[in-house]
Amino acid sequence: MGKLTNKVAVVTGAAMGNGLGISKVLAKHGAKIALVDISDQLDSTVKKLQAQGVDCIGVHMNVADTQSVTAGVKEIIQHFGTIDCLMNNAGIIKLGSLLNTSDEERDQQFDVNIKGVWNVTKAVLPTMIENKKGRICNMSSVTGVMVADEGECAYATTKAAIMGFTRACAREVAKYDITVNAILPGYIQTPMADAIANESTPDDPSQTTKGIADAVPLGKRLGTIEEVGELAAFLLSDEASYMTATPVVIDGGSTLP
Ligand code: NAD
Repeated sequence: MGKLTNKVAVVTGAAMGNGLGISKVLAKHGAKIALVDISDQLDSTVKKLQAQGVDCIGVHMNVADTQSVTAGVKEIIQHFGTIDCLMNNAGIIKLGSLLNTSDEERDQQFDVNIKGVWNVTKAVLPTMIENKKGRICNMSSVTGVMVADEGECAYATTKAAIMGFTRACAREVAKYDITVNAILPGYIQTPMADAIANESTPDDPSQTTKGIADAVPLGKRLGTIEEVGELAAFLLSDEASYMTATPVVIDGGSTLP
């Protein structure tokens, strides 16, 4: 028996990166997974997992759009019958200083990163409340909460907002035995991390992927999506029964003073 055997988990932003790593590890621990994404890559990701024997479906959903979320969550419940675990992972970043970030770029990040977590949680909660049990985990970041990187004003704002939401929501739903925790990664090797390293000051060696890795105390490397997945699996399992509103950092020690 895996720690998530017979659990139905929803993972947003699951076509690639952290969401894919989390989905793979949740499946390894026995969960059935609804992989949610806006990207066309979702179908090939789901096919590959199904070929490996994972009980999963792909759900095309834009977490920033309430109608899309309502329809997607309905589809998941129709397929699996219930939802036990929710991993709010989908997120985007658009680098730029405050003065150089357009209102549109600000809103895109606020819409996906903040409203996305709000929308999907709100759509899934009635099922968890009915079950009088549930596990929710939100993807924040060390950025915005513990450190601040150049050009991440809008993104950092969203990741700090997720912590406020996590705490307030945890307070509200504790009476139903539903927990709400947050993961705060440092640099994890994903398409997003590659894009950041390529975009931000290419003339500054400390900001290349190698430069970032060299500054990480543990192993001088970026984290892997599987390492993030194992943390998510624990927080979404029955084993994390006395943890809620907790921010858990996974950064190889990179935020050590
Ligand atoms: P990624 O860009 O590699 O993958 C993000 C996934 O989210 C993509 O599949 C994308 O299509 C999907 N997505 C984007 N907008 C969506 C929407 N509106 N609806 C549904 N799906 C959507 O990014 P990643 O690095 O895997 O990041 C995943 C999460 O981890 C994000 O919340 C990110 O902020 C957080 N995070 C990442 C790092 C890192 O170093 N990679 C560090 C800290 C936090």
